[in-house]
Amino acid sequence: MPDFTIHRHPVLAVACPDCGSAAGTWCRRPSGHRAADLHRARGIEADRVFIDQHGPDASIIRLATGWQVDPRGRARD
Ligand SMILES: [Zn+2]
Repeated sequence: MPDFTIHRHPVLAVACPDCGSAAGTWCRRPSGHRAADLHRARGIEADRVFIDQHGPDASIIRLATGWQVDPRGRARD
């Protein structure tokens, strides 16, 4: 099960459907260089899996120590 709190960016918890980068690995450009931004398709996939795992009311927040899932984050916003 993907863990959204252990990577430097939550979206890294899932593999990229666009460039094929594995979970935990930053997106690549076709040239093989590191992309400036993570692919949009990966963000959408991460959202889908996150909601599947934590429910539609959850969000993820950044703390000084890293990322944390807030189970009611979206319900409050
Ligand atoms: Zn990618």
